[in-house]
Amino acid sequence: MPARELPTSVRIREVGPRDGFQNEPDVIATHDKVRLIDQLGRTGLKRIEVTSFVRPDVIPQLADAAEVLREIDVPEDVSLSVLIPNERGFQHALALRERFHEINVFLSASETHNRHNVNRTVDESLAGFSRVLERAGTEGLRREAVISTAFGCPYEGEVPAGRVTAIAQRLADAGVEEIAFGDTTGMANPVLVEERFGIWREALPGVELTAHFHNTRGLGLANVLAALHAGVDSFEASFGELGGCPVPAGATGNIATEELVSMLEEMGIATGVDLPALIVATGEVRDVLGRPLGSRVLRAGPVDWAPSAEPPDA
Ligand code: ZN
Repeated sequence: MPARELPTSVRIREVGPRDGFQNEPDVIATHDKVRLIDQLGRTGLKRIEVTSFVRPDVIPQLADAAEVLREIDVPEDVSLSVLIPNERGFQHALALRERFHEINVFLSASETHNRHNVNRTVDESLAGFSRVLERAGTEGLRREAVISTAFGCPYEGEVPAGRVTAIAQRLADAGVEEIAFGDTTGMANPVLVEERFGIWREALPGVELTAHFHNTRGLGLANVLAALHAGVDSFEASFGELGGCPVPAGATGNIATEELVSMLEEMGIATGVDLPALIVATGEVRDVLGRPLGSRVLRAGPVDWAPSAEPPDA
């Protein structure tokens, strides 16, 4: 398909500080999180998911949500979102209402995955969101919902498109402005992605549709290309390919933001992101974590990296 049929620019939400840091075995120091978020906020990324107000005994990795929100200092045009697991978490977040712009609620399209993840049925999850979404609306917060296992479930296998669509429509009715479709365990493929986003586009007029892909089986960027062909121009990604899902074992993280930016910019699709600056930030998080990361662009640098320059991961 000729490039002119693809979007000319895209929006990217960086989810590493939440999706990534939450899934690290060790708790990252608050000052390191703040420094890394501040750095990400200066790469041209306009959307960052910074933390989640989850129970600290359940997810100690994000127990410092309030401190992180209070201490970060990013340019005013960067939209910050927090992930809200339930009404109680939302109450905690509201104490810092002036520090963020968007909320994100999440559920699985698969009953079994939702039960494993949050110990609720899909209906219970949707019912629980309604008050949060309503209040968020009156607070002037932008509302996003993430539907995980939207392309398949490790427990149930196929998740029918119609089932995902029905959940998405209920979320749209409840007021969400944006819905992200998550390939939580890497079961999507480009044909499925193009087909499903075509269906969702028809079924959800006026809702921003976002693609959230994982690199579990190496198809992350292939799925991005398929989503672009379906007209999707909003993506979520994580610097360094951080993040992921503990099930199935060995699942890798989200697509790497620097790989997404590199591919799109090479294709002539504007991201607004300064790739070298993003690679520097990714090198910083690698140093904080003290281990090699999956990102190939972190190792190789941008396509136009000067041969004389030190590659970022030398
Ligand atoms: Zn993810």
